Amino acid sequence: MKTIFHSDQYGHHVRTRLSGGSLVPALEIPDRARALLAAAEECTEAVLAPGAADLALIRRVHDADYLDFLATGFSRWSKRFPGNEELRPSLHPNAYMRRRPQDLLGQAGYYIADAASVLLADSWAAILASAATALDATRLVLDGDGAAYGLCRPPGHHAYRDQACGYCFLNNAALAASKARDSVDRVTIIDVDVHHGNGTQSLFYERDDVQTISIHADPATVYPFYAGYADEIGAGRGEGFNLNLPVPEGADDAVYRDAVGHAVSKARDFAPDVLVIALGLDQSQADPFACTAVTTEGFRRMGESLAGLRRPTVIIQEGGYPSPVLGANLAAFLTGFQESMA
Ligand code: ZN
Repeated sequence: MKTIFHSDQYGHHVRTRLSGGSLVPALEIPDRARALLAAAEECTEAVLAPGAADLALIRRVHDADYLDFLATGFSRWSKRFPGNEELRPSLHPNAYMRRRPQDLLGQAGYYIADAASVLLADSWAAILASAATALDATRLVLDGDGAAYGLCRPPGHHAYRDQACGYCFLNNAALAASKARDSVDRVTIIDVDVHHGNGTQSLFYERDDVQTISIHADPATVYPFYAGYADEIGAGRGEGFNLNLPVPEGADDAVYRDAVGHAVSKARDFAPDVLVIALGLDQSQADPFACTAVTTEGFRRMGESLAGLRRPTVIIQEGGYPSPVLGANLAAFLTGFQESMA
């Protein structure tokens, strides 16, 4: 298995996050990628840089006006607020007022769902590099590699068609699935990040050609709160093709083994031509967000289980935050996956 990674992803470096009303040091930081890259260098056969992002494909997944906002929003912001280093919205549309405004302050809240998703001077280059990473990993798999690992940062699975959310701007797993669909008939996305893949669910909610399965901490008590429940099963043609498997807070390796086993069995019924794994590592017992308790050994078994589908597989990095075992958990997952595929 090869790794795809682009160093432009380091340029997106947000310094703070809001937690319980206070600004505290950020967790979705470049050091995450450094730890993951060191692990990938150890346990995959090569690390390659992607080519330029395929903007035509990205425009099929995300709306043109949203992409324009991501590309130009920060420079507009810095002209209006000289010296400010962050575009971070302070107000948002809601169920009672949803017009798309012309004003930049209004647009910032319209296109960005929360205070976690911050744009900086170098963010757009990093976002495009992350998307290009996902697309090149997919190309490798479509060209015949059994699997590839896209070390994507910023992550993607919370991003909607026209809205950034939860540190995510472009939905890398959805881009990978869309690229794969240009060559094959059926794709399954299995998202194992501890947070529900709400953006991915939304993008494919009415489709029967891309099955979406997410295993995540119960949104009754864990972000993203507003989506991710078991009764969200898809709509229209997509009914029955979205599966949410919430696990309780504190879920351990045994709970995850059962949930991943169930996901694999549902994916096997669907019989995808390509599997996309949205690989969060924040289910770790050592993750700073620590809401579940997966061990490094648990990640190895998760990799083995998902390899059991025996499908060409694109592995896309999602969350997973700095801890002493972040790299070890990635290495365990990728090693378990590769040994089981061999
Ligand atoms: Zn997460």
